[in-house]
Amino acid sequence: FHGNSEPDKLVKTHCCYCGMQCGIKLKVKDNKIAGFEPWEEFPFNEGRLCPKGVMRYMQNNHPDRILSPLKRVEGKGFETTDWEHAMSKTVSEIKRIQDTYGKDAFAMLSGVSLTNEKSYMIGKFARVALKTANLDYNGRLCMVSAGGGNKKAFGLDRTSNSWADLKHAEVILVAGANISETFPTLTHYIWQARDNGAKLIVVDPRMIPLARTADLHLPIRPGGDSALFGAMLKIMVDNDWLDHDFIDNYTSGFQETIDAVKDYDLDWAEENTGISKELIYQAAEMWGKANTSFLLHARGIEHHTKGVENVLSCINIVLASGRIGRPYCGYGTITGQGNGQGGREHGHKCDQLPGNRDITNPEHRKYISEVWGIDEKDMPGKGLSAYEQIEAIHRGEIKGMISICFNPLVSLPNNNFVREALEKLEFYICIDTFLSETARHADIVMAGSLHEEEEGTVTTAEGRVVKINEAITPPGNTRRDGQILMELADRLGEKEKFAFPTSEDIFNELRVASKGGTADYYGITYQKVVDNMGIFWPCKTLDHPGTPRLWEDKKFETPDGKAHFNPVSYRPASEMPNKEYPVVLTTGRVVSQYLSGTSTRRIGKLLDQYPEPLLEIHPKLAFQYGIENHDLIKVKTRRGEAEFPAHVVETIREDTVFIPYHWGGKHSANQLTIDSLDPVSKIPEFKVCACQLEKTGKK
Ligand code: SF4
Repeated sequence: FHGNSEPDKLVKTHCCYCGMQCGIKLKVKDNKIAGFEPWEEFPFNEGRLCPKGVMRYMQNNHPDRILSPLKRVEGKGFETTDWEHAMSKTVSEIKRIQDTYGKDAFAMLSGVSLTNEKSYMIGKFARVALKTANLDYNGRLCMVSAGGGNKKAFGLDRTSNSWADLKHAEVILVAGANISETFPTLTHYIWQARDNGAKLIVVDPRMIPLARTADLHLPIRPGGDSALFGAMLKIMVDNDWLDHDFIDNYTSGFQETIDAVKDYDLDWAEENTGISKELIYQAAEMWGKANTSFLLHARGIEHHTKGVENVLSCINIVLASGRIGRPYCGYGTITGQGNGQGGREHGHKCDQLPGNRDITNPEHRKYISEVWGIDEKDMPGKGLSAYEQIEAIHRGEIKGMISICFNPLVSLPNNNFVREALEKLEFYICIDTFLSETARHADIVMAGSLHEEEEGTVTTAEGRVVKINEAITPPGNTRRDGQILMELADRLGEKEKFAFPTSEDIFNELRVASKGGTADYYGITYQKVVDNMGIFWPCKTLDHPGTPRLWEDKKFETPDGKAHFNPVSYRPASEMPNKEYPVVLTTGRVVSQYLSGTSTRRIGKLLDQYPEPLLEIHPKLAFQYGIENHDLIKVKTRRGEAEFPAHVVETIREDTVFIPYHWGGKHSANQLTIDSLDPVSKIPEFKVCACQLEKTGKK
């Protein structure tokens, strides 16, 4: 630990975890990250960091770091190899599989902890170098329901305001967002709003830390979200807590939307949400009567087979209140992944091209084909989403895969099925920095780069594009991810289209590719980002300062320029509890871990805070099963079973148990979760399935 030694240099950059992308100064000593200092001038976090941000530098010198390419040797496991072998073997296998089975038989999965530049390059690499339609990303497990809802309602997918507007909102409604644990530094903005007198409503099956001081905590039954927001809309209509001027002049679809909830009386709402009718009414009144407000949600309402409908039901109460496009009035999803916002804009989704364009739209295809210098007819079409790719492997349609920064064996649902799929691949290549559970199934592992080893930009959850600076050169025989992709493209015959001497060159092409799309970065340059410590997109011209607050002119990016209400009819989750599987299982995160834990499970000081996944269970449910704190509990679903120590707490609903998902192997919560997908966003239903509990012993 070199945290206190005199550094060679301090590099201003951003934390690699979570969508807040807090500013941080990394201490560099002898080409190693030796510690950090707060970056107090960075306007979002002003030096504050959470435990992950404080410890993130410890991944850099970790003994588990992959320092050279690896090859699988039958019967022996992995052996170190050289780049020439890794590259030539990979390219020959890509060619063999595509020549034998067709281009789409080789698929790609990527992550959204990657920079904007890498996200853009991956989208282009898959379509231009691999020529496959089957590219998707792990944002499919994260914020795609929000993206689907936002585009439908507003025509644009971004949180409406900078977080600065939160501080002066009169009412803040947080639905399914464990802010204090998953985006801890954002909590400060809510405390400041509270200091200014804001009322706080928290909707969550657990009394998460933020809920402990809320004015109203609505302990919703997992899956009841659209019933709650539909009932709130009905109460707003019945009491005329509506902004008629906004509804009449700037929206469409209001009448059909209120028709869809006309039968949602309080008894019905209580029955379908598990929340008392008094609390539902109080929440609707608090929201309905406010002058300024902010509604925030995250995976809690999005990880459902009706994730998009849940998001739209939230947007409906925002539009009915008319509180959007004004100071201190906003709405947004909070992205959990480091570049969850930017990563969903630049074309590495199966249905998307850069600028958040639609890959099925002929005009969009034409524009991007021109930017990329390819014939429009050679642009692949819409491919399979992440979990659909796993199903396609089982069907024998996908035979090879390349993944980067994605650990599906921990993060996808029903992961026994995922493991079987990985075992069926004829060739699998993984680019990563640590040997994740998934990487252990690879034929070739390419030693890639960490955040601090590459230059680029990311876009924070509030839409602010910030600069990531290279602090050290990649260690050992590792390479920058961008360099790996460029060399693969070269060997696949597309050298000229991937000739990017610097990351700024990639960004400049990204700017042009985004021009005219709904996520327009054209007016953003590296220099502007550095000079202003971030620029909010959309930013369409070089002299534009960026857009921290959207829609102040009440012009939305939909074809008719209006914000769209969308009728939502409540429907239950795909797997509800019954006699055989009587308990609801829901999953989520803890403060000390990030995503599938590939790096954070290796940082001892983070692991010490929460060493293994625990099963949270209410004392009354525990009593029914004779369970006491620390007892070992077997949790069984229709997909699998696993054992977890019990954590008996009063902060969870009596009919629900909770397990964090950051662990793999026998500790994996996702052995249990269901692989039902939202029909629009294709997000899996991580937040609801039915389970059995059995006490198996004392820990
Ligand atoms: Fe900030 Fe998120 Fe990093 Fe914590 S994990 S320091 S909140 S960016």
